[in-house]
Amino acid sequence: MTRAHEGATLWLTGLSGAGKTTIADAVAQRLRSEGREVEVLDGDELRRGLSAGLGFSREDRDTHVRRVGFVAELLARHGVVVLVPVIAPYASTRYEVRAAHDARGSSYLEVYVATPLGECARRDVKGLYSKAAAGEITAMTGVDDPYEEPDKPDLRIDTTGMDVAASAQHVLDLLTERSLA
Ligand code: ADP
Repeated sequence: MTRAHEGATLWLTGLSGAGKTTIADAVAQRLRSEGREVEVLDGDELRRGLSAGLGFSREDRDTHVRRVGFVAELLARHGVVVLVPVIAPYASTRYEVRAAHDARGSSYLEVYVATPLGECARRDVKGLYSKAAAGEITAMTGVDDPYEEPDKPDLRIDTTGMDVAASAQHVLDLLTERSLA
């Protein structure tokens, strides 16, 4: 049986509050309405299950990203469009995940949600930036923990002053451009 559509992993990387989850959900909703098989691999949810017990050291962050990447590739291989709104702060680990997809012939696209730190902190969706500023938490990505910006993402979106629908449309356009939607 041939599949009507090829699967793909779309990894949305960027700082906390950049808009990764919001965009992933909007894209997922649109694709589902068109009858596509879609999964959103939410980082916070997976940290409670698949990656329970892992913290925020470099090693643990890398292990988390590799695990999520493994699951994403499995799904993508079977025709699912997998949206992954996970920070993935280290370039080399993102590269590993892309290479694992390449090795299996699965499509992998990197979307850099490049909303600047100031705007993310202003939104402070989860209250983490104010906690970091108050010294209540440490290892906050972009504050006192590294975020290595992608240098050649497939798509870069700074959501500052942009509405969610427009941001989602950029991702949908990318999928169309790559013949994945
Ligand atoms: P992340 O998953 O990157 O941590 P979230 O999606 O949880 O970020 O939060 C982003 C916040 O920014 C949400 O409150 C969302 O409504 C808001 N926002 C404003 N404009 C946009 C946009 N164009 N795209 C995505 N999110 C946006």
